[in-house]
Amino acid sequence: MQTNDVSSIIKLIPDISVSIVLASIVLLLVWFILSVKNINTNNEHFKELLRDAAELHDEMLFKQKHDEELFKQPPPGGDCPICFLRLPILRTGYKYYSCCGNIICSGCVYAPVYDDQGNEVDGKTCPFCRTELPESDEEDMAERLTKRIDVKDPIAIHDLGCCYRDGKHGFTQDHVKALELFHEAGELGHTIAHCNIGYAYEVGHGVEVDMKKANQYYELSAIGGCTQARYNLGNMEVETGNMDRALKHFMIGAESGYNDSLKGIQELYTDGYATKEDYTEALQLYQTYLGEIKSVQRDKAAADDEGNRYY
Ligand SMILES: [Zn+2]
Ligand SMILES: [Zn+2]
Repeated sequence: MQTNDVSSIIKLIPDISVSIVLASIVLLLVWFILSVKNINTNNEHFKELLRDAAELHDEMLFKQKHDEELFKQPPPGGDCPICFLRLPILRTGYKYYSCCGNIICSGCVYAPVYDDQGNEVDGKTCPFCRTELPESDEEDMAERLTKRIDVKDPIAIHDLGCCYRDGKHGFTQDHVKALELFHEAGELGHTIAHCNIGYAYEVGHGVEVDMKKANQYYELSAIGGCTQARYNLGNMEVETGNMDRALKHFMIGAESGYNDSLKGIQELYTDGYATKEDYTEALQLYQTYLGEIKSVQRDKAAADDEGNRYY
């Protein structure tokens, strides 16, 4: 029996822990049989067999450690620095302010502003630092370019990358420049930047299409807490028929408050790949998230303008 045959059989086993145990058993068996048969253990072929089995064992161990990290629930994102409630993950539920580099929830952005005498004033200042806000998005980007990017604010660097990617706010579309900025923001800890690099590899924006690299960047992003990257990984697993791994990704996404991940579990349940208990658990986790982000002020903002929707 060739170890290559053994390797391919072991790699087909979905449970990595079982694979590691089996790889260890194969390693021992090869050694035992050859010893009993008095075969020279200094024989080159024997050494090769032993090395292959050991490498397989290491590969499985690496995969297990990788999966342990990949399927760990990432910590929740930050809180709004004004109301101290957990920030929603929906993009319309918060706003980034380049003046002070803070992310403020839609409720606090929408909340009325009063002067020293208690009279409501036109809220054209940052709700946190009270700096006067720029007149236009173009002016806002110019502000970010000159101030926040100089102090290596990863959000500002990422947002500038989006301007180049989409050719907006006065920037000419340039996917290569966008990727450079996403890499810089990613290195500074911006997880969404890694998701954008993964997407560039998936669709071939500024790079050749490379699904392996797309997957690697999505994993890096998902481990850092990006729910979109986590959802993409879930869908990739569905496409390759690994429903158990897809379910794990979607469950983590549901706990983080990602509605599409919850829908993913609902679809797995409808198609018979997830149990009713799985779906119930996902619903409960999502409800817990909603309980943490809901507020009267945020509801008011959402009721007033669809652009403030936060879940
Ligand atoms: Zn707030
Ligand atoms: Zn500010």
